[in-house]
Amino acid sequence: MDYLLNWDGRSSILNVELTYSASQKDSTVFTFGDPSFGGQTDIFNVIRNFRATEPESVRIDEVNRRITVYHKGAKKHRIRYEIVGSLNVDKPTLASQTELFRPVITKGMLTLVNKQFTLEVTDKSNPLVSFRWRKYPGNFTYFNSILPSQTNPSTKLADDYANFSEMVYFVMGDNIDVKEYNVMGIRYYCVTTKVDKYENDLQGNLNPFFEYYFPSVHRFWNDTDFPFYFLAATALQNNQKNIGAGGFGMKNGFVMKLGTKFGTWEKLVTAHETAHTWIGMKIMLGNDSFDNQWFGEGFNDYTAIINLANSKIYDKEDFLHYLNEKTLNPHYRSKVKNVHNDSISAKYWTDYANYGVLPYRRGFLYAFYLDNQIRLASNGKFTLRNMLIDLYTLKKTKKIGEVLTVEDFIQTGATYLNKQQLKEQIKRHMIEGYPIDFNSVKLISEFIVEIKDNIPKISLANDADLSKIYQW
Ligand SMILES: [Zn+2]
Repeated sequence: MDYLLNWDGRSSILNVELTYSASQKDSTVFTFGDPSFGGQTDIFNVIRNFRATEPESVRIDEVNRRITVYHKGAKKHRIRYEIVGSLNVDKPTLASQTELFRPVITKGMLTLVNKQFTLEVTDKSNPLVSFRWRKYPGNFTYFNSILPSQTNPSTKLADDYANFSEMVYFVMGDNIDVKEYNVMGIRYYCVTTKVDKYENDLQGNLNPFFEYYFPSVHRFWNDTDFPFYFLAATALQNNQKNIGAGGFGMKNGFVMKLGTKFGTWEKLVTAHETAHTWIGMKIMLGNDSFDNQWFGEGFNDYTAIINLANSKIYDKEDFLHYLNEKTLNPHYRSKVKNVHNDSISAKYWTDYANYGVLPYRRGFLYAFYLDNQIRLASNGKFTLRNMLIDLYTLKKTKKIGEVLTVEDFIQTGATYLNKQQLKEQIKRHMIEGYPIDFNSVKLISEFIVEIKDNIPKISLANDADLSKIYQW
């Protein structure tokens, strides 16, 4: 499957030309888009104007996102289509979750994930896939997440379909800056927009992450097994004043779409998303990412916040604010805090504010509690970090494609805590959804818990020092 891409640098249309070899004689069936990627519902507004080459013909089934090409004896196969990447100016989206996952193709800037413009083959073949830019503005800065050192868009990028399915990210524009760092011997790339209406200096905002946060996370996991890593933060601008920030992780990097001033919350988003390289990518519980999101999101969030503390990007106030105001308070106030884990996935994107946040908060609070339990049980010798490193070590002993299970999690934790208790805690708090009763749990002496109107609030003891609690 060879993709030829064309963009004039001004319009919101990307012209795609796909040449492919067909494994079936009569027809080839492709699908486009992924509704679970950002919960987008209007996928077919993004792709349009399919044309096959005579004598071939195309049939489109929008409901099932299927595109069938009938070959009619043709030996060569080529299809053309357009990707519309304009931000919805007439009908601006307040829910940034859906806007954030759209392709962005506007005057002077393009950001694209392969999921947003390529077709999926429905048979089980694993073809070689290539991308090449044929038409593009010569003076634009170009970045691709497969071979970041390649700065010429007309050079062909080729790999197996299976590798590309882990996502490729393209950025091109005249408002784009790419900076390269060396973090513990690993190449890091910082891709940002230069100027935006929020008056951000994104290279300046992100510099502390390369100087302190990424080294902290590598030390946390004891892991520098990386080819390279990229962080791409680009401003998203429509006619809304503020559309928040969000993003997604991919194999070697993280993409952030920013529709606001980069502040305390955006630091957390950056830390959370980049931390996913371990929990969420290298380390997952189960096959379906929804099943054990309490781990994939909640535990990841906890590693993010303690690494922000370790790298001093978050101070005491920022840390406690996140723990109390962003997590404990909204969770214990939530009307749906008790719902069973199984009922979350159906409402995850449609009612993210109530249901989507549950696994993050449940998992975060359990990770905090577990960290405290391990510290107390070992007299400060071990922390949750030790258990997580053990889990990562266990993962490395598994075969490719073999995932960790909740049973593995419990077994690993049993080195530090009572196995039966762990089992019951997961069942009760993560699966059945009962909130942890902070009235009856013991925390390390550095943390003080106070409960008012059934809402726990954590503060630090006078002599407590975050950088001592979270040091590695
Ligand atoms: Zn996440």
